[in-house]
Amino acid sequence: MATSYWTRMCVNCGHGRLVLQHDVTYRRVYAHCEDCEMGWLRAAEQADPDKGFLTLLGDFGFVDASFEEIAQSEWVDHVCGSFDK
Ligand SMILES: [Zn+2]
Repeated sequence: MATSYWTRMCVNCGHGRLVLQHDVTYRRVYAHCEDCEMGWLRAAEQADPDKGFLTLLGDFGFVDASFEEIAQSEWVDHVCGSFDK
């Protein structure tokens, strides 16, 4: 069972959580909406719908970010909650 960490509700669709993902291609942590698949690279921009990108168009692989990866990223102060799946 893996733990997922999320930061806030998505400003694009309004009902998905932004789940922190580890981009294994570019080695960075970003927030990924579990519902509409929009993503945000910068924590400071996650509330701005114009700064999001459609993750389905991104040419990279990703997995759920671990707490250790998040702790080393700019997202560390933005974690709102977690869930197991
Ligand atoms: Zn969304």
